[in-house]
Amino acid sequence: MPNIDDNLIQVRTRIQCATEAAGRRPETVQLLAVSKTKPAAMLREAHAAGQRAFGENYLQEALEKQQQLADLDLQWHFIGPIQSNKTRAIAENFDWVHSVDREKIGQRLSQQRPCGLPPLNICVQVNLDEEQSKSGVTLDEVADVLESLAKLPNICVRGLMAIPARRSDEDAQRAAFARLAEKCTELQDRYPQLDTLSMGMSGDLEAAIAAGATIVRIGTDIFGSREKPQAI
Ligand SMILES: *Cc1c(COP(=O)(O)O)cnc(C)c1O
Repeated sequence: MPNIDDNLIQVRTRIQCATEAAGRRPETVQLLAVSKTKPAAMLREAHAAGQRAFGENYLQEALEKQQQLADLDLQWHFIGPIQSNKTRAIAENFDWVHSVDREKIGQRLSQQRPCGLPPLNICVQVNLDEEQSKSGVTLDEVADVLESLAKLPNICVRGLMAIPARRSDEDAQRAAFARLAEKCTELQDRYPQLDTLSMGMSGDLEAAIAAGATIVRIGTDIFGSREKPQAI
């Protein structure tokens, strides 16, 4: 069993060092604990250690954990690929969705967001390296997708998300994240509500923070490695 308390302390320390190195304040980066495939008991431990925001990729699994943890005050982020028939449950049960990659999904999330809840915060997922295995729009498509999503009443487009390919060289990794950051800056003139760059995972959070990440999504370094490689 991983020591979640210690792991969280280490990850927070890495975030603090990376923000200092980048001349940023530590509170400008939010830690999202990615708990896919991990049991509710581990999330409960992370909560006891002060963690509130959790990221999940698989809807059914997430809904089960939400029930088991209903007594805790948690913030839930959906970060996995989205099929249209899953949008209702996502709109009803999450605070954030990082993986919106087409207008139709945004429309459904907006339509299906229950009244009484605040607008659903979303990020547009960008496929930075145009990899077949990953979802997301290309950098060139982002502006068009944003234009249609920004009109929808019950979602709030907060920013961009990406999972760039891993580079062995840290400068190259940072340059990849920087392309996403530049696109976000370019769009902020028209969409001042864009305040979020969801980028950086266990292996590359330093490079992501150097390039301007505001949410890092960390799984392995908090909860330990996952049984089998999961499709992301
Ligand atoms: C699994 C996953 C993560 C966490 O990755 P780690 O390398 O385990 O930190 C982050 N983002 C997304 C979209 C994921 O699917």
